[in-house]
Amino acid sequence: MNNYISMVPLSSGGDGSLTALLTSISPKVSDILNKALNDEDISEQEGLVLFDTQGLELDALIATADELRMKTVGNCGTFVITRNINFTNVCNMGCKFCGFAKRKSEAGAELLSMDEIANRAQEAWDRGATEVCIQGGLHPDLKGDHYRNILKAIKTQVPEMHIHAFSPFEIWYGARKSRMSTADFIQDLIDHGLGSMPGTAAEILDVEIRKQLTKDKLSTEQWVDIITTAHKLGLPTTATIMYGHVDSPKHWVEHIGKIRSIQQQTGGFTEFVPLGFVHYESPLYLSNPNVRPGPTPDENIKMHAISRVMLNGWIDNIQASWVKLGPDYATAMLRAGANDIGGTLMNESITRASGGKNGQEIMPADMVMMIEKAGLSAVRRNTLYKSVETFERSSPLEIVKNTCPQTISVVEIAVTEDAALPRVSGGLL
Ligand code: SF4
Repeated sequence: MNNYISMVPLSSGGDGSLTALLTSISPKVSDILNKALNDEDISEQEGLVLFDTQGLELDALIATADELRMKTVGNCGTFVITRNINFTNVCNMGCKFCGFAKRKSEAGAELLSMDEIANRAQEAWDRGATEVCIQGGLHPDLKGDHYRNILKAIKTQVPEMHIHAFSPFEIWYGARKSRMSTADFIQDLIDHGLGSMPGTAAEILDVEIRKQLTKDKLSTEQWVDIITTAHKLGLPTTATIMYGHVDSPKHWVEHIGKIRSIQQQTGGFTEFVPLGFVHYESPLYLSNPNVRPGPTPDENIKMHAISRVMLNGWIDNIQASWVKLGPDYATAMLRAGANDIGGTLMNESITRASGGKNGQEIMPADMVMMIEKAGLSAVRRNTLYKSVETFERSSPLEIVKNTCPQTISVVEIAVTEDAALPRVSGGLL
């Protein structure tokens, strides 16, 4: 692990190391990296070349991503105090990678009451959380208004809490259960306090891969429609990729390219979050010898670095998920293109249900320590990347080139009157 961290250059620019690296590698790779450093978009094909880098070329990729992170958000790393509330683990969708879902009659199946959800939100608020992240399985007994009722219960008890909730798969399900168009369903949720949406359930936005993972129940087209509809209604979302199973770098660059092109149209993504596949208890892995046991360390570092390089100028925030990576790897990613380590979390159950080895909660002081260990200044943010609290570094900053901006990039979506909203047809499941 220490070797892994030490392979991340702790000083990428200003002292000539990046320049030196770029002149000592193949022109094919240095041309691509120089293009990104000059704020030009690199193509998916060029991204694929970067996934093939090794040795000095990989060092140059990491140093370029680190330089772009510094130019975009300064030498600061961010985190948010949040609580995950997985309100039900009952789901019949049968996604093959999922180790979280249970049948209704299975031991351990649960569906939280509205009171329990509101009480958990209250507890989180009392402990300093600015956000609750609410996601659940697609429980067959849920009525369409269940999603609205969750928002109402939380907002009644904790009116100022930001609610980051409901994956595109849940939106798709809730809209059908309510016999509403996606746009009307999302607007109703916004009217009842939905503040932003997680861009989960993206997995890999490729038809063939999704067929293997989810039987293509929520298609790429539907995921994109729901996300762009949310953005056009003024609702920000995150964007994710789940990698390291039956996929390959070709699918990764195409996925990042799709995310970039949505952002070019809507500007509604707050962050991009690479999520490595957690295989331990995943039925996909346990039943198929051809499924990989998650990404390799090299792939993790390349994914974060290439995300920064390909999304440069479009999505400012690249998150390294400590829940998936573990604290040491997440720290390393902060010097390889990432600028955020996500949420402190309380009660994260999805990754642990798949056998993830990392704990369900990290204290804010631990987040600050991880960020400082990477040589950056720690900033607590809210969901939309507005600075909430800055921390004095406990040791001298060795590699500062510029300081953290007061406000990191705050996401604002311009909603146009004539935005053409894509509709996904309604109807019950
Ligand atoms: S990933 Fe979500 S939709 Fe798929 S089976 Fe698991 S809980 Fe259900």
